Amino acid sequence: MTSTPSRLSRRVWLAGALVLATGLTPAVAQERVLNLYSARHYQTDERLYGDFTKATGVRINRVDADDAGILARLQAEGSASPADVVLLVDAARLWRAEQDGLFQPVKSAVLEQRIPAQFRGADGGEGSRWFGFSTRARVLVYDPKRLKAEQVDAYEKLADPALKGLVCMRSGSHPYNLSLFGSVIEHLGAEKAEAWLRGLKDNLARDPKGGDTDQIRAVAAGECAVAVTNSYYYARLMRSGNPADKAVVDATRVVFPNQATWGTHVNISGGAVARHARNRDAAVQFLEYLASDSAQRYFADGNNEYPTVGGVATENPALTALGRFKAETVPVAKVGANTAQVQRMLDRVGLK
Ligand code: FE
Repeated sequence: MTSTPSRLSRRVWLAGALVLATGLTPAVAQERVLNLYSARHYQTDERLYGDFTKATGVRINRVDADDAGILARLQAEGSASPADVVLLVDAARLWRAEQDGLFQPVKSAVLEQRIPAQFRGADGGEGSRWFGFSTRARVLVYDPKRLKAEQVDAYEKLADPALKGLVCMRSGSHPYNLSLFGSVIEHLGAEKAEAWLRGLKDNLARDPKGGDTDQIRAVAAGECAVAVTNSYYYARLMRSGNPADKAVVDATRVVFPNQATWGTHVNISGGAVARHARNRDAAVQFLEYLASDSAQRYFADGNNEYPTVGGVATENPALTALGRFKAETVPVAKVGANTAQVQRMLDRVGLK
């Protein structure tokens, strides 16, 4: 039987009436979304987000930019910002965003119980404004043909005159280095930290350029003998199937500095609920998801970071090979708070 146009339109009307009567609305109007501003520049995170959507039905709209870009965008958008969750990759930036009023406090028993206080923003009773979900160690990579491990087993030694012209490092004012230097201020005091920065600058093999991986490659290429890098960049090379990456790993060694003293500096990647979040419940749900065992495993097994949640079993051959290490215990919020002081020091020392 064929439908006349009038029968067809009647069917459409009936379908519409059914929707109204039962309260059913088309799927698109019902869909829950979460607007995520992310500075995490790692492909392996796709599955992390996909699993959240699978488990909750909440679709993630992602805006990717670096830390500075995200903060500028949040500032510019103000109360009109669609951002619900913000993910950044550095303690100093998280601290900065908190100071600038870009986040809102979150009271969550799950987050309080799972994320150690060392890796959270200050909690004045209404909850923290940011939470660290993974850590990365700032390690030293050296050329074993030119240096012995004992020559580079502490950050302090980067200023040793014996290393003159041998040190490679990305820009001193990159957040990863600002946080490292902020940590050194906590451990050595401002005066010694500045003298150390001066010595470090004098030891540079070249003007800072490129990212952390470029510094590792420069060691393998003989341009310098020791470099400063986040641990995950080295682990990524260790897991690479590319023969050139394998050659870089074969030509270098890693040291976790300050094992005999205050421990290796660790930075965090962390998240927060945006000040003007419209989907607040989904935002908190997402942060709690990032603290779950499965998400914590993604940070380690996918992107070679370390979980902040204790007791999460991971299966990453590179992290296993790098071994366990003693990390510093200074709260990352304190390190972040030192950033402005570090910046002034860098200006005085002339380290770009
Ligand atoms: Fe990075």
